[in-house]
Amino acid sequence: MEELKQRILRDGKVRGSNEVLKVDSFLNHQMDVAFLQDVGRAFRQRFADCQIDRILTIEASGIGIACLAALAFDQVPVVFAKKNKTKNIAGDVYLSQVESFTQSKRPYNIFVSKEFLLPGERVLLIDDFLANGSALSALIDVVHQAGAQVVGAGIVIEKAFQPGGKLIREKGIRVESLARIAAMSEETGVVFCDD
Ligand code: 5GP
Repeated sequence: MEELKQRILRDGKVRGSNEVLKVDSFLNHQMDVAFLQDVGRAFRQRFADCQIDRILTIEASGIGIACLAALAFDQVPVVFAKKNKTKNIAGDVYLSQVESFTQSKRPYNIFVSKEFLLPGERVLLIDDFLANGSALSALIDVVHQAGAQVVGAGIVIEKAFQPGGKLIREKGIRVESLARIAAMSEETGVVFCDD
């Protein structure tokens, strides 16, 4: 998505030491809703051949993107996996674990109520970034626990120099990333993959 690449080049800030790209001005803090609407439409185009029953994402940054994608998909329901802050969570939930990329690799649980993810449903996963693939793997795990099917994963920014994309695609999951970063550093900035 050309507009996204231009936006990353213009507004993205590379934090070299921990390989984090900050796009706080339009995606992760302040949100450019008109632009994110185009992001939602781009996901619709990429998955135009698929029937989607539900969009699943993870709090917090995925929520806005998933909602705008849902509008482009004629308002399919959006569910976000909650991050568990307490040790005990009551009852009827699917539970999985994520190794946080941004927060010192500390693992945390995510959960989704069984009420909002049903057997046989075709689920599209949406997230802002793909790095090592831990967040996406946990979402895939949750979908499989529900007896539902992962149609694919729509990612806004894939850091292709990290292993997540390969790992998830090797599981047979279709991953559509709107921008793929081949390399980045504070000195050189962001370099995109050729696709
Ligand atoms: P993964 O689980 O694939 O290692 O990391 C994906 C998650 O970590 C995303 O949900 C995203 O919130 C966060 N993340 C990973 N890399 C970056 C990054 O470079 N910038 C930002 N803002 N978030 C990232």
